[in-house]
Amino acid sequence: MALGPQQRTPLEQAIPTGAAEPQTSRTAQKVVAHVAELRRVHEAFAWFRVSARELEDIQLEVTAIPAPPWGEAARSQWLKPRFEDAGLADVHQDELGNVFGIRPGTDLSASYVALSAHIDTVFPAETPINVSRNDGKLHGPGISDNASGITALLAIANVLRQTNIGNSAPILFIGNVGEEGEGNLRGMRHIFEQAKWFDSIRALVALDGAGTDTIITEGLGSRRYEITVRGTGGHSWSDFGVPNPIVALARIIDHFDRTTVPNTPKTTFNIGTVQGGTSVNSIPQVSTMRVDTRSASLEQLDRLERALRDAVKEGIAETSGRKKDNLLTSEILVIGDRPAADLAADSHLLKVIRAVDVQLNNNARIQRASTDANIPLSLGREAIAIGAGGSGGGAHTVNEWYDPAGRDLGLKRILLLTLALSGVSEE
Ligand SMILES: [Zn+2]
Repeated sequence: MALGPQQRTPLEQAIPTGAAEPQTSRTAQKVVAHVAELRRVHEAFAWFRVSARELEDIQLEVTAIPAPPWGEAARSQWLKPRFEDAGLADVHQDELGNVFGIRPGTDLSASYVALSAHIDTVFPAETPINVSRNDGKLHGPGISDNASGITALLAIANVLRQTNIGNSAPILFIGNVGEEGEGNLRGMRHIFEQAKWFDSIRALVALDGAGTDTIITEGLGSRRYEITVRGTGGHSWSDFGVPNPIVALARIIDHFDRTTVPNTPKTTFNIGTVQGGTSVNSIPQVSTMRVDTRSASLEQLDRLERALRDAVKEGIAETSGRKKDNLLTSEILVIGDRPAADLAADSHLLKVIRAVDVQLNNNARIQRASTDANIPLSLGREAIAIGAGGSGGGAHTVNEWYDPAGRDLGLKRILLLTLALSGVSEE
């Protein structure tokens, strides 16, 4: 996952730490308390404790399998038989490599409660992957983000089988591709583009990274663009006067940079790279730049896009020649698009996770980030992203680590949430 800039400014957060009470409906609390009292749920909690070492082994094993953006096939192949071993039904993979498994429920007409974990990493294929266990901690690139989420996904599927807890609504387990960076949420996007899944998933809980102290309910939106300006180019002396794509780009940047953005909702833009030209005595034929825009508000992202398109028009108009052989042309390519969206403050999912946190005496705060939950949220579905327990650091670096101390709190939290959402069928 990629955390938004708001993560370190608690004052801006929608719900301050410790304000769980007003969000928690009494019914949600009763449902969660009831689930937590079940004998089989107690057995599940015990299973998390005794399986600690086994879960670490799984986490080390999956971390060792490279899963660069657009190259997750080996992980998909690894995950499928593990879903089968956990007793999931209809285990299969779609054309992108997303892996699915279903734990059927007793209510045959109910829609799915979905639990997902992204299986991709940020690391390019050539990254050396060294995994190790040292001083009780696990080390390796991707060990926390998101091998801990994948491990939690498998732990929940396995514990349901081991303890034979009966869920009322069916539970859909998803290991999805394409969450990180260039993946641009393509795995989750594809899933929700299928009518079959869009119509049948009532809520999605994305397990992403370590921890138990956050609830990500606000999808930070981002859009990225590549702007290319082209001209005929020529010799700096003999073709002097031919419109220059680098000059046009400079004018475009100047216009765009004057765009004002609000502090609330926080909205940002950045010219990240500029390229063009071949030599000092050539009028360039091409110039390009890459632009990143971010906001929690879709309107602001749209407004920035209009400002960018206007800036391109103006910069070209001010620089281009009039005749056919010295015109400048421009192209605007959207190279990334993550929708912005929020979970409603009165949503059922938020009430239930708040109730779970009260039950477990866990303190969690609302955060904004760009995760797989952005996709269902942008489509009006209930979704959150939460951590898999334990703690981690060095995310997106080869020095990433994971400390399994406290993992069982994370797993209890995920289990109670899942069962409170699905309902439990009593024996
Ligand atoms: Zn992640």
